[in-house]
Amino acid sequence: MYTLLHSFTDLLFPRKCPVCGNRLTEWNETICLHCLSTLPHTLYHQRRGNPFEQRFYGLVPIERAASYFFYTPENPVHKILHELKYYGNTRMGIEMGRCMATHFQSGKTNFFEGIDLIVPVPLSTNRMKLRGYNQCSLLAKGISDVTGIPMGDESLVRTIDNPTQTHLKSSKQRWENVKGIFDVNPQDIHKIQKKHILLVDDVSTTGATLSACAQTILKAIPDCQISIATLAVAHDG
Ligand SMILES: [Zn+2]
Repeated sequence: MYTLLHSFTDLLFPRKCPVCGNRLTEWNETICLHCLSTLPHTLYHQRRGNPFEQRFYGLVPIERAASYFFYTPENPVHKILHELKYYGNTRMGIEMGRCMATHFQSGKTNFFEGIDLIVPVPLSTNRMKLRGYNQCSLLAKGISDVTGIPMGDESLVRTIDNPTQTHLKSSKQRWENVKGIFDVNPQDIHKIQKKHILLVDDVSTTGATLSACAQTILKAIPDCQISIATLAVAHDG
């Protein structure tokens, strides 16, 4: 709720939209409405067989996949990702998850139809210690808030602290880097069995991390279904 104290604080320390730098109004929590509407939307949630889904063909069977925005290092979406990953903007994570969920529910079909559990891609223990939060969990929480679908925050775990994918340029390096690093949390197997899982990641470049997560779940529990939602997807794939 917006209070008088908020208004006073805003007067002294005006909050700014991290994308365009304009001052945020009391109705915009983390990003201005202009930026939210003009960022490059993929609209993949309305397109079955979209290019993001195609990335997983022949690798791992998935039900559907969608991404909110296109990402290139030049477009403003990278500013949102930086806020999430490096500037500790946890509110931004939850808010983006909420916006993405509202957007994915709009249109002809509800992207979340039939989904039972939302599972964020887990962060390595080292990065969790450094950052203090998992940005994928924040997005998942925002999606859960809007859809009412429960979250399995610890259903998938990282067993090996692999180096970050960010600086790996070649596709082969990225695939090698995530091989065998995930596992299903034995305590959560009952939550996943016969369920339709939505894997949530912040940004997908080659699809290597998400494929590794999906393969891990399906290997441990073959009778479940997997779908994928990300905040951003790299244009050039
Ligand atoms: Zn803005």
